[in-house]
This record gives sequence, C-alpha cells and structure tokens, in this order.
Amino acid sequence: MYSRSNQARMERMQERVDAGFMSKHYPDVESIVVSMVYNQRGIARPIHRIVNFAPGSYAFFKIDCFSRDCDAGGFDLTHVINGMIRNHRESAKGELTCESDQPPVDHSAIEYDIQIKFS
Ligand SMILES: [Zn+2]
Repeated sequence: MYSRSNQARMERMQERVDAGFMSKHYPDVESIVVSMVYNQRGIARPIHRIVNFAPGSYAFFKIDCFSRDCDAGGFDLTHVINGMIRNHRESAKGELTCESDQPPVDHSAIEYDIQIKFS
C-alpha cells in the first residue's frame, strides 16, 4: 500500500540507517536518555515518554510528532544532543514544538530532559 504516511515512514527509516550507529559517531557516549512530557489540549493528563539510546542505536535523534495526523513533523533533538556531547554536558532541559509546516492539526509540543552518560 502506498500512502503519504507510509512514504514518510520509509524515508524516516532510511534517514535513521544513513545516520549510522552511535558507537561510531560518539564513541565516548555510554547512553542517552531522553524523557519527554507532552501536553495537548483535550487530553486529561500529560503523556510521558522515554527514549533510550545505546552505542548500538542509530545516531538519529528525531522523535515523531505525537499527533496521529502529522507525518512530516516531529522533534529534532540532533542539535541539542550534538551540542551536549561536544561540551561534555550531562543534562539539558528545554522545550520543542513540532517542526511541521503543515496547517495546524493538533501539533504537539514537548518538554524534554536529556541525560547523557559518558564513558
Ligand atoms: Zn506535528
């Protein structure tokens, strides 16, 4: 089946593979834990999500938008994580909104908390 969202998913998968492994790009990183809290109008309570990266994970730090109708957007933590690794910073917090430029469905915004363990 061919659909826009399948297409987006395949492209994203390819991007992930192209990114290569963490161990190659960041040999001194033991783990990265990204905790996110996602608030959206209309839902009773915030959704918590944790994503873990290990040396065998792809060095790909784009998180999909939580909105079901959004397939081009997402949250790109690449710059944040690259900066942290460069400066050997072990934690960072911040906020991001979905980067989709589609007309607003119900794009989400997240608060993130990143913890990096260096070996
Ligand atoms: Zn979105």
